[in-house]
Amino acid sequence: MSSKFVVIGGGAAGIAAARRLLDSGGDVLLLEASGRIGGRAHSVRVGREALDLGCSWLHSADRNPWTRIALAEGFQIDRTPAHWREQWRDLGFAAADQEAFQAAYQQFTERALTYRNGPDRPLSDFIQPDNPWRPLIDAISGYANGANLGAVSLHDWAAYEDAAGDDNWRLVEGYGTLIAAYGKRLPVRLDCPVSMIDHRGPRMRLVTPQGLVEADRVIVAVPTPIIADGDLTFDPPISAKREAAAGLPLGLADKIFLGIRGDDYPHNAHVIGNPHAACSASYQIGYLGRPVVEAFFGGDCAEAIERESDAGAADFAIGELARLLGNDWRLRLQPLARTRWRAERFIRGSYSHARIGEAGQRRLLAQPHDDRIFFAGEACSASDFSTAHGAYETGIAAAEEALAADRRPRIVTSMPLMTAPSPHPTDIATTQTDPDPMPARAKPCRPFLRRLFGWIWKGALAFVIVSVLWVGIYRFINPPFTFTMLGDVLHGQLITKQWMSIDRMDPNMPRAAIAGEDARFCLHDGFDFGALRQAYQRNQKGGRIRGGSTISQQTAKNVFLIQSGGYVRKGFEAWFTFLIEHLWGKRRIMEVYLNVAETGIGTYGANAGSIRYFGHDASSMSPTEAGRIAAVLPLPKKRAAIDPRGFVRRHGNALAKYVNVVRGNGLDSCVR
Ligand SMILES: Cc1cc2nc3c(=O)[nH]c(=O)nc-3n(C[C@H](O)[C@H](O)[C@H](O)COP(=O)(O)OP(=O)(O)OC[C@H]3O[C@@H](n4cnc5c(N)ncnc54)[C@H](O)[C@@H]3O)c2cc1C
Repeated sequence: MSSKFVVIGGGAAGIAAARRLLDSGGDVLLLEASGRIGGRAHSVRVGREALDLGCSWLHSADRNPWTRIALAEGFQIDRTPAHWREQWRDLGFAAADQEAFQAAYQQFTERALTYRNGPDRPLSDFIQPDNPWRPLIDAISGYANGANLGAVSLHDWAAYEDAAGDDNWRLVEGYGTLIAAYGKRLPVRLDCPVSMIDHRGPRMRLVTPQGLVEADRVIVAVPTPIIADGDLTFDPPISAKREAAAGLPLGLADKIFLGIRGDDYPHNAHVIGNPHAACSASYQIGYLGRPVVEAFFGGDCAEAIERESDAGAADFAIGELARLLGNDWRLRLQPLARTRWRAERFIRGSYSHARIGEAGQRRLLAQPHDDRIFFAGEACSASDFSTAHGAYETGIAAAEEALAADRRPRIVTSMPLMTAPSPHPTDIATTQTDPDPMPARAKPCRPFLRRLFGWIWKGALAFVIVSVLWVGIYRFINPPFTFTMLGDVLHGQLITKQWMSIDRMDPNMPRAAIAGEDARFCLHDGFDFGALRQAYQRNQKGGRIRGGSTISQQTAKNVFLIQSGGYVRKGFEAWFTFLIEHLWGKRRIMEVYLNVAETGIGTYGANAGSIRYFGHDASSMSPTEAGRIAAVLPLPKKRAAIDPRGFVRRHGNALAKYVNVVRGNGLDSCVR
């Protein structure tokens, strides 16, 4: 078996990735370990009802991509609000107690959020052990995070809280039904667990029980325990990925479905089984108007219930409900289905949470390896983790990265272009444009000056054509390397670069670059004559020649030219600046600038700089981090953004303040 793109894991993330690749005309194959696609999105039919064993709520529904897909595919959406904060008829939970609990919960979240910018801590630090509402807050952490307060990272939790919207809707036909339907057209191999990715050779080889599968690019979209436990390995090993996956274990949430006998039952009612108990379920009674109860268990309680037999687990749920609704309900409720997500061989849990201090692992896990292996899955989402829409978005991002990597030309094929502005225009003229097979000595002897002008004219024409083509190509294809990088490599320096599109990059980074390097970037046409005049006057006084260069000029120099060369280089720089201003536009110029500029010795681009200095990528940067990277840009060989002293600290902090000025005054309007 062989395919250009192979996606491993057919959950929401893998399906989204494979669909994007297929819709882009890619040759793609999806390998799924189990006998169905959907993963933790799984709807089953029991009688007339579609039951969601895994995801069921379209969280952040107004911006959830599955909402859009559901509408496009003709699925029915139920927008009845979730009544999680209500106790139907105050059963077993007096109104006054509910108020007291709400106050305690609000205090807990506010306290936690106050500490979010400090060191990471467990959520349990923000509620007293003897607080009477601690068991219920702990249970809610179990439902939401799959883990109790003591195991949940403050930083991770806060990132989710910031991003989550208030709309939670349901799909009448089932969330799992929708996600599986979306994957229907895909070429899939079921029962095909990949145990190893051999990425030593030019093509990767994936080991499966159905034989070897060859691929050029692979997207790994499996749950974190599969990587952390070594069920899917890499040869050579990629220990950073295994560590990242281990820092993001799956917590546990399980469901028990009970059928209701008789027509007399509440619709869309919610109750907590016992608000004072350490182990209790959250119940949706008659949801979607159906004669069904969904009991939801989380954290340690779910772990305990999962160990119970089917009868024992159902008894627990029926017992809690009978205590609230009345003993007659014991006879009215009958078990329909239950889940055991921890025991699912290829999943092993419900949704990821970060261990304390490990929230940054989400970004590390999501980073591509070697431009060939890409990672997706809910755990890769920095703020929408633990959801099906977060999984979808990571799948799309991985597919886009794989497609972009595939479009990038290999260094070898781009060499002729790189040598185009040859210092020997006569060579170009004779070897490329003179089709005349007659030996030069046999040609009639033209006057020397005319021939010289002929050569110069042809050389100039060739240079113009090649340079326009070169710049035009980089409008769509990211520059694979620059002369500065080549120089580093020739001097034995290892180089690190990690392209990030401007769409993904935190807007603070372009703002800091504008603040530090070129405040009029959005206002000029590539040249800031005021700044140039000042630089000229300084240079007249002697000393080192200073540039007064705009970001456009720096980009032209970094991408197409060498760093040295004085005023001759400046001439070529002006030409390339003119071209990029007209062929690329400001946003692309900024994108390329922030990806090729040196941000430290051997480190190229703001993203690689951010990973090097701050341990996370540039998709989320504070103004201080962006300011410090921008402060390094003028002298990357001498400055470092981490633990900065003297100038970099002062200048970086000043730039951090100017980030807001740039935004407030619309100085970044051309890159938004
Ligand atoms: C009980 C429960 C309730 C939930 N409720 C909600 C909710 O209401 N709303 C919401 O948005 N989210 C909810 N979620 C979370 C949501 O279901 C997941 O976040 C999402 O489905 C994960 O998708 P994924 O593609 O990242 O992973 P998965 O769905 O786990 O897909 C990974 C796939 O990889 C396969 N695989 C594993 N190993 C290999 C291998 N070696 N080779 C090939 N394939 C392999 C697996 O079989 C699986 O199909 C819930 C989850 C659970 C369990």
